[in-house]
Amino acid sequence: MGEAQERVAALLAEHDPTTTDRLEFLRARFDAGLAWVHFPVGLGGLSAPRAMQQEVDEALTAAGAPDNNPRRIGIGLGMAAPTILAYGTGEQHRLLRPLWTGEEVWCQLFSEPGAGSDLAALATRARRDGDDWVVTGQKVWTSSAHNARWAILVARTDPDVPKHAGLTYFVCDMTAPGVEVRPLRQITGEAEFNEVFLTDVRIPDSARLGEIGDGWRVAQTTLMNERVAIGSRSSAREAGMVGVVAETWRAHPDRRTAAAHDQLLGLWVEAEALRLAGVRLRQQLAAGAPGPEGSAMKLGFARLSQALSGFEVEFLAEDGLRYDDWTLRRPELVDFTGRGPGYRYLRAKGNSIEGGTSEVLRNIIAERVLGLPAEPRVDKDVPWKDLPR
Ligand SMILES: Cc1cc2nc3c(=O)[nH]c(=O)nc-3n(C[C@H](O)[C@H](O)[C@H](O)COP(=O)(O)OP(=O)(O)OC[C@H]3O[C@@H](n4cnc5c(N)ncnc54)[C@H](O)[C@@H]3O)c2cc1C
Repeated sequence: MGEAQERVAALLAEHDPTTTDRLEFLRARFDAGLAWVHFPVGLGGLSAPRAMQQEVDEALTAAGAPDNNPRRIGIGLGMAAPTILAYGTGEQHRLLRPLWTGEEVWCQLFSEPGAGSDLAALATRARRDGDDWVVTGQKVWTSSAHNARWAILVARTDPDVPKHAGLTYFVCDMTAPGVEVRPLRQITGEAEFNEVFLTDVRIPDSARLGEIGDGWRVAQTTLMNERVAIGSRSSAREAGMVGVVAETWRAHPDRRTAAAHDQLLGLWVEAEALRLAGVRLRQQLAAGAPGPEGSAMKLGFARLSQALSGFEVEFLAEDGLRYDDWTLRRPELVDFTGRGPGYRYLRAKGNSIEGGTSEVLRNIIAERVLGLPAEPRVDKDVPWKDLPR
C-alpha cells in the first residue's frame, strides 16, 4: 500500500464516514494532513507532492467520505489559503482549518470603482491608530461577500509614495462594525457579487498579512493563484462547460448538422488541450509557486467557456434563448455551468472579466512570458496622491 492509501485507511479506521458527523469527519481529515497534502504538517497537509492529492481524494470518495464542497468555498481555497500560507503568522495559520472545512467562507475585497485591472490605483485607505488600522473605502464586484466570514483586503496605507509601494494587505472580519454589504445584480439576474462599503472599520495590526507597504507583492501571490484556480478547475475529461455542451449534443440528434459537428469537435479538442496543459501546470506547481503561465490557462478557459456556451445557444436555436427565471437570487456558490443554456451563455460573459480581464492577461503573457516590450507606464514614479483620478 502506498503512503496515501495507508493514511486514508488510518483516517477511515478512526472515523467511519457512514456514522461520523460531516464536520467532525472534515476536521479529522484536516488534522490527519489529508486536506491539502502539499501544505505543511499541522496545517492540513503532509508536505507531500501535490500529485498525492488526487489519490487521496479518489480513495476518500470511494469510501463514501463527505467532501468540503470546494465549489462553495473557492475563494478561500484558491486565493486566501495560499496567501495565508505564504505570508501568515502562526496565529493567522489558525484560520486555515475552518477555511478548509467550509465552516468559514472567504471573499476578496480587491476591486474598486476605478481600480479593477489597475488594482494598484485603489483608494480604500487604512490609517494606523494605535494597535489598529482604521479602514474606509468602497469595494465592488465582491463575490460571496454576503456569505463571507472573512475577507482578504488590500488597502492604501501610504498615499505619498508611488501607487504600487503604498499598499498593505489585511484579513478583514466581515462581521466588524462599519462593514456594509449590498447586493449587485448581474446580467444573469442573480446577485452573486456585491458592493462592500467600509466605514471606519477597525482591523488589528495582528490581522496584517506581510509587511506594511508590501501589499502589492502579497496581492501578486493571490492573483497568480486565482488565475490557476479559475483556469485549471478540473483534471477530469469532459468536466465543466465542455461536458455540459457535449451532453446537449448527445441529447439532440435531430438538431445535428455537419457544420455543427465540426465546430463542436474543434472546441472539444481545444478543451482537451487546455485540460492537459492544466495537468502540466499543476505538475510545474508542485515544484514552486505559480508563475505568469497561469494567466494563459485563465485566458484559455474564458475564451473556451464563451465559445462553448455560444455554440450551445445556437445549436438549441429558440430553445437555447429561452431564459428560465429572472428572480433576484443570492446564490451560495459561483456556478459557471448551472441552470439552462441561457444562464450558461450569460454567466460566461463574466469569465473574461473576473480574475483579470483577457486584455490584461494578454499583456501579462506578452511581457512576462514572451518577454515583449512593456506598456509605457507614466505613473510609475509619481506619488499616488498626485495621480489624476
Ligand atoms: C463575475 C465577476 C466576479 C468578480 N469577483 C470579484 C471578487 O470576488 N473580488 C474582487 O475584488 N473583484 C471581483 N471581480 C472584479 C474583477 O476582478 C474586475 O472587474 C476586473 O479586474 C476588471 O476591472 P474593471 O471592471 O475595473 O475594468 P477596467 O479595469 O476598468 O477595464 C475596462 C476595460 O479596459 C480594458 N483594459 C484595462 N486596462 C488595460 C490595459 N492596460 N491594456 C488593455 N486593456 C485594458 C479591460 O480589459 C476592460 O476590457 C469580479 C468580476 C466579475 C465580472
